[in-house]
Amino acid sequence: MTNAEIAKTLREIASLLDMQGVPFKPRAYEKAAHAVKITDLSVEEIYRRDGLKGLTEISGVGAGIAEKIATLIQTGRLPYLEALREKSPVDLARLSLIEGLGPKTINTLHAQIGIRTVEDLERAALAGKIRELPRFGEKSEQKILKGIAFLKSGGRHLLGAVLPLANDIQARLEMVPGVKQVAVAGSIRRRMETVGNADLLVISNDPDRVMDYFVGMPEAIYIHAKGPTQSRIKLSNRMNVDLRVVSEESFGAALCYFTGSKAHNIALREIAIAKQLKLNEYGVFREDRPIAGRTEEEVYAALGLPFIPPELREDAGEIGAALVGALPELIDYHSLRGDLQIQTNWTDGAHSIEEMAAEAKRLGREYIAITDHTKSLTVTKGADEEKLRRQMAAIDALNKKRSGITLLKGAEVNILKDGRLDISNETLAQLDVVGISVHSHFGLPREEMTRRVIRAMKNPHADILFHPTGRRIQRREPVDIDIDAVIQTAKETGTVLEIDAYPDRLDLKDEHIRKAVEAGVKLVIDSDAHHIRHLSHLHFGIGMARRGWAERSDILNTLGRNEFLESLKDGRRNHRRAA
Ligand SMILES: [Zn+2]
Repeated sequence: MTNAEIAKTLREIASLLDMQGVPFKPRAYEKAAHAVKITDLSVEEIYRRDGLKGLTEISGVGAGIAEKIATLIQTGRLPYLEALREKSPVDLARLSLIEGLGPKTINTLHAQIGIRTVEDLERAALAGKIRELPRFGEKSEQKILKGIAFLKSGGRHLLGAVLPLANDIQARLEMVPGVKQVAVAGSIRRRMETVGNADLLVISNDPDRVMDYFVGMPEAIYIHAKGPTQSRIKLSNRMNVDLRVVSEESFGAALCYFTGSKAHNIALREIAIAKQLKLNEYGVFREDRPIAGRTEEEVYAALGLPFIPPELREDAGEIGAALVGALPELIDYHSLRGDLQIQTNWTDGAHSIEEMAAEAKRLGREYIAITDHTKSLTVTKGADEEKLRRQMAAIDALNKKRSGITLLKGAEVNILKDGRLDISNETLAQLDVVGISVHSHFGLPREEMTRRVIRAMKNPHADILFHPTGRRIQRREPVDIDIDAVIQTAKETGTVLEIDAYPDRLDLKDEHIRKAVEAGVKLVIDSDAHHIRHLSHLHFGIGMARRGWAERSDILNTLGRNEFLESLKDGRRNHRRAA
């Protein structure tokens, strides 16, 4: 039994006692849990060697608690805890998995509104009952709902939340003396839309030092394990992070191994076996003699393959393509020149057109479309024809100032329930970029939803279908729509499909992007920014596009402004032919 498991049990006892209002004892269990957690030696080994006496020598562990630990180690169970759980009316173990909920808060929620389970809590939060409690508010209610969604997702985090964190940890590890190289591996490197845990690799000639730094980082709330070659911590966002020290000779092999996916690795190993080689996280070996391992390129080459980009490593045809030299030349992370979905304070955005333009320019964009919401979305003060005309005039005036970035006149036009648009064709004809999207009636049956969106796509003024499935990851399911029919329609009408790069949208998602690319449908990658800090999200969309095998030529906003607008016009001409 690991120290972490023992500590967890002690902590649960502390919480249960605390909820029963037992004085002092909870603190004693908390203290003991902490002592067990930070002990370098295995508590189980201490007990097996020195018995109860050994346990009581751990500071903070008294005779009573030592006996409990002994029972736990000997039998794997603890009747005392089971009795406590039975007495407790509340599912403490599960409730306390929700971020921000400690025993005290759970106790309050139980005493005041009778919360016993996660389901009780969700119902109360959805009914707005949490915000009415003293010392709670709307914010804590939202936070609880987010925590529940996360719990239900099986503990996966949005890529948008963990990629910046992983990059930040990487940058700090690179500063630790003795460190020569650091890499982020795992599903983060493959740019999966959600991430279970993070894997980092490091080359260091002072492993103890980098491990000490790693487990001591301020966001580490729990140390699962610490060793000279591998440590695992839990961060305050409840994500586990592994750090492994690897040798320079094995770095590429380890990076490949820990990047995954598992299926890709298995396929690689089969190729190795067929060549009478051995492949593992230390390298490629011929009869125990290493022949590759320093870099990933070297590892793939030893297997007779070109380098395969991490985003493709899903065993979804990439190895076959690599073998015959048919890997796509993926769109690279710095190739977007425009951004075609941006909201401003004309509707529900936080900033003025000028402020969004200035930040987009700073990020290197050459053109952006201002696409505020239209009128049927009343919660956003959506624009009607008159407001759109005023905005077009404002944009014309700004463009005359030649600020170094071109503003395109656009709108995010609502698709009504029956597939008509909520802005007249006459006004749409004056816009440079017409995005269309579903923002209401999300629950229509599949056939009706598909017919609705296809009808809207057939409007000759519709240029881009924004966030085509409407999902919000971990918050809202996608609409029920026949995506193949949407792609087919896009092919006929020349409608461009969007990859919305907003971290909880990523819509289209990777497998849909791949279908669109195979069908020859054009795509754009947009930020859907409502705030200047959202404008830098485009790279999440590029990650999705790469996972969907998209090349530069598949993505229209890799083009310069004039070519981009020309290609939209081509789409409109197609429309007329298809109509
Ligand atoms: Zn939208």
